[in-house]
Amino acid sequence: MQTQLPAEFIATDRGQRANEILRSCVHCGFCNATCPTYQLSGDELDGPRGRIYLIKELFEGAESPERVTQHLDRCLTCRACETTCPSGVAYGELADIARRQIGPRRAGLQGALRQLLQWLVPNARRLRLLARIGRYVRFLLPRALASQVPSDVTHGLAGNTQGAKQVLLLQGCAQQVTTGGTNESVQSLLARLDIGVMTSPREGCCGSLDMHLGDEAKTLDAVRNNVDALFPLLAQVDAIVSTASGCGVTVKDYGSLMAADPAYAERAARVAEATVDISEYLGGMAATLTAKFPGKQVAWHPPCSLQHGQQVEGLVEKILTAAGYELLPVADAHLCCGSAGTYSVLQPDWSDQLRQSKLQALQSQQPDLIATANVGCQTHLAEGTKTPVKHWIELLS
Ligand code: SF4
Ligand code: SF4
Repeated sequence: MQTQLPAEFIATDRGQRANEILRSCVHCGFCNATCPTYQLSGDELDGPRGRIYLIKELFEGAESPERVTQHLDRCLTCRACETTCPSGVAYGELADIARRQIGPRRAGLQGALRQLLQWLVPNARRLRLLARIGRYVRFLLPRALASQVPSDVTHGLAGNTQGAKQVLLLQGCAQQVTTGGTNESVQSLLARLDIGVMTSPREGCCGSLDMHLGDEAKTLDAVRNNVDALFPLLAQVDAIVSTASGCGVTVKDYGSLMAADPAYAERAARVAEATVDISEYLGGMAATLTAKFPGKQVAWHPPCSLQHGQQVEGLVEKILTAAGYELLPVADAHLCCGSAGTYSVLQPDWSDQLRQSKLQALQSQQPDLIATANVGCQTHLAEGTKTPVKHWIELLS
């Protein structure tokens, strides 16, 4: 694609990178075929090719930020388009640059909801307190918020465990409040393999929420906090392990997020390099894992942040199959379930439609269980079905 970005923008690291990404797009449109929002609306501007064009026009000053914002806010950042693109266009990175350019502020209810989410979700204590209150006032809340109130409020891990090896586990902010059983399952599974689990009391939000809302200052603050919390522990552990793929994909990106900050660049890159998804950590030990619910049939939903963001594909399936589970076929496994971080709150109608389609695909063979790898997908899917939805690690012993 030809670009004419202003010279002063291209002179910045961000402008140069945006220009590179824009020029790598050949405008073929293959990506539209796997874009969930393009499938929903049929509007070119709600597909990746159209959004890339709008972003180019924004940077060139030829398009109003309002129009670009409308279509960019409808993007799930699922990155299915990246997996499909034959030219390797880094759409997610381009969208993040555009979001930072636009900034986090929005008018009216959208603006208020975004500020509430930024205040609430990255803080586990606030989230836990409001989740408790929310259960009693759920009926008073707008539909988009009411559906987010968890039915159970869980806690972080009680303490560290010891083993022949040690890992540093990312507890996640939403995960420890809404699906704390995931981290407990990891701890007891690893204990059986003589691997201890430690956590950092200073760990905070990974920064993904602020990043997807375009708040650069808060994103970088969150990353710096976690680099300060995690880096000093690296010498004691085998790896930093993430069990929420939405957090893992962001922590793995800390090196590039901090590349321009000389005080943090090197340490951030070391934290990113040490971080693995729990499926990557356990991949080589699949033969030692057994099924906790033998004989159950499982429908597997790979989160976008795992399959498209981290490009980890096939590993969970391999581990669950080796443990003895029958994995049922699921159509359109590449498509997002509609959770997508804050998307289910900010774009509830499209989010609902995507959940319905996803549940239809997942339940077409009547599974006993649905398994996934990210807290957002897990709670979002569970809201729409009576079939138990679990983190896949909870299926192992
Ligand atoms: S992002 Fe990739 S698939 Fe989509 S239009 Fe550009 S080159 Fe084609
Ligand atoms: S990230 Fe997902 S929703 Fe956004 S343009 Fe790409 S495929 Fe479409």
